[in-house]
Amino acid sequence: MFEQMESNGTERLLFACDPDNALRAIIAIHSTERGPAIGGCRFIHYDSEISAIQDAVRLARGMSYKAALAGLPHGGAKAVILKPSGRFNRPDLMKAFGRFVNTLKGDYITAMDSGTHVSDMDHIRQSTQWVSCTSASGDPSPYTALGVFAGIQSAVQFQLNRENLQGIHVSIQGVGHVGYEVARLLHQAGAYLTVTDIDKKLAKRCATEFSASVVSPEEIYIVPADVFCPCGLGGILNSRTIDQLRVSIIAGSANNQLESQIDGDHLYSKGILYAPDYLINAGGLIFVAMQYAANSQSEIQQKIAGVGSALYELFQASSTSKQAVHRIADQQAESILNPNSPLHSAA
Ligand code: NAD
Repeated sequence: MFEQMESNGTERLLFACDPDNALRAIIAIHSTERGPAIGGCRFIHYDSEISAIQDAVRLARGMSYKAALAGLPHGGAKAVILKPSGRFNRPDLMKAFGRFVNTLKGDYITAMDSGTHVSDMDHIRQSTQWVSCTSASGDPSPYTALGVFAGIQSAVQFQLNRENLQGIHVSIQGVGHVGYEVARLLHQAGAYLTVTDIDKKLAKRCATEFSASVVSPEEIYIVPADVFCPCGLGGILNSRTIDQLRVSIIAGSANNQLESQIDGDHLYSKGILYAPDYLINAGGLIFVAMQYAANSQSEIQQKIAGVGSALYELFQASSTSKQAVHRIADQQAESILNPNSPLHSAA
């Protein structure tokens, strides 16, 4: 475990167990160098405790990269609550998690993530002030979607030399909180959509509201489209899926889309433009951090619009340096996080 923490640069790994409230939780703090660590709380089933720990550690680093590249005064962290298999009282469990967060005295600010809702954040708020996404502050998903939409516009402009999305075909994997909003924005902009979701009702809603074509979760990889937009879970770009893809752009909200860095190299060698997940999906974090710091709506929206221009600059840097986009993004984030590292000061 310490080796994994070292290779990820993880600052702290904390565990809480409260059997009375069915709480088994992990908080991975990647960094507090640039400010309090911020990152969502997942509440999902894991195959094993080790896979839950690995998820928290990997996602926490992504949050640090996201905050650094967005220029926010925060480090990254992630919390994972292992979903109990038996009966449990959800509000009590969330309040117990809030007490865990409170022990960190502001070093970690929690927020919504897969499997948690605004109502959970309200329960956590009863035990700690170090929480965002409550009903007083709101759901970050529409803001994440705004950033993804801006990122797709930039990628289309760069790769396809098109100024707008009229007639552009986008295939979306997962039309939950973020994917649905992205679909709505794309439909408004004149894009043609193919969607999938494990939850058939959600896919059908997009067919009804946006005239989207619906395919099965297995078929989404072989849909011939301009853009593939992954908005489900991570690890979906790998040696089993990449060669099936018939798109020229990948731009979506899911965290940790690349199963490994090599998969990003594979995309680059195939000429597929990949928008690094922690850059294109930064809108939600920007909302959480700026809202927590009492910035205005217009300031927040202006900052999120910058996701598109930041991506465009990255695509240009990749083209000029002939290096894969995900490698350049990692280097830029590392150089912000570790400015004194000889590795980066030489660059
Ligand atoms: P969500 O749970 O509301 O939606 C995800 C949807 O994807 C669900 O409807 C689920 O059924 C579907 N799905 C999962 N795996 C699938 C598969 N293999 N094939 C088809 N459908 C699949 O989650 P969300 O809040 O919309 O977040 C989506 C992704 O974006 C996650 O990876 C999340 O970590 C990331 N993200 C979300 C935010 C945010 O603000 N919500 C911010 C940054 C990143």
